[in-house]
Amino acid sequence: MHFTEPVYRNPYWPTFPLLQITQGCTHNKCKFCTMYSGVKFRLQPMELIEDDLREIAAYAPQSKTIQLLSANPLAMTSNKFKPILEKINEYLPEIEYIYTQTRVSDLKNKTVEDLEELRELGLREISLGVESGDDWTLNRINKGYTSEDIIVQCGKLTDAGIDFWMTFLNGVAGREHSHDHAVNSAEIFSQCNPMLVGTGGLTLFPGTPLLEEAQRGEFDPLSEKEMLVELKTFVEHLSCDCSFITHHTISASLTGPDFLSRKNRIIDALDDVIKHGDFGEMAEIRRNKKSL
Ligand code: SF4
Repeated sequence: MHFTEPVYRNPYWPTFPLLQITQGCTHNKCKFCTMYSGVKFRLQPMELIEDDLREIAAYAPQSKTIQLLSANPLAMTSNKFKPILEKINEYLPEIEYIYTQTRVSDLKNKTVEDLEELRELGLREISLGVESGDDWTLNRINKGYTSEDIIVQCGKLTDAGIDFWMTFLNGVAGREHSHDHAVNSAEIFSQCNPMLVGTGGLTLFPGTPLLEEAQRGEFDPLSEKEMLVELKTFVEHLSCDCSFITHHTISASLTGPDFLSRKNRIIDALDDVIKHGDFGEMAEIRRNKKSL
């Protein structure tokens, strides 16, 4: 198999088989991320994709799912993406469900009809690392799109029948803008009505512009307790009936389907941790994190 480090795969999707069809990230400018900083974006040559598909087909010819890597494969045009999906169907004729992650802006050059064609070929679920629905925050972290872009592009996925995830990056707006980040993100996410909302907490990793800004006093990070207050505000304002998962450092499990029926329990659990949590332990867990 041909993989380029670092290999990030969504742990909530089947993690076998994986197929790398691009490497790196076209954007590489989000201020909290260095994941692909040493990797130039490149389309995987079709010969290597076919080599890997042959290998998967020899080992698991009846595969029904596959996860496509790397950061944002849909950056390529539909005309380039379609032949890859066709090859997957050729080598793995029982394939039913193709997963990938991508950036909101990668959908701009695709029509609903393009996306419907990709769905017909098996593309069923896309994870979008949206991070925020608040324009000030999106601009501050250099995400490269606006809240309006999020609504328009997610609307195209809905129209094409492709399910999608949206992730909220807790803490990324810093202290001054925390409330607006939470409220406006919840509003935009609710309008988009994704199948799943995921939340992760900001960790300032070495080499990220945001850590350097924090060291110069230009970015005021939230404390562990403030992160939880922001997460609670986000949950309070989120009104779509999705699955909800969180990677927060708190041990209470807030993850599961049917968000609206669990919303009050999630808020109560967050309240409890805000009042009684061990913030020193949470900070220690965060300090030991190695990647997003
Ligand atoms: S967060 Fe995602 S889009 Fe932003 S630089 Fe990292 S990999 Fe690229």
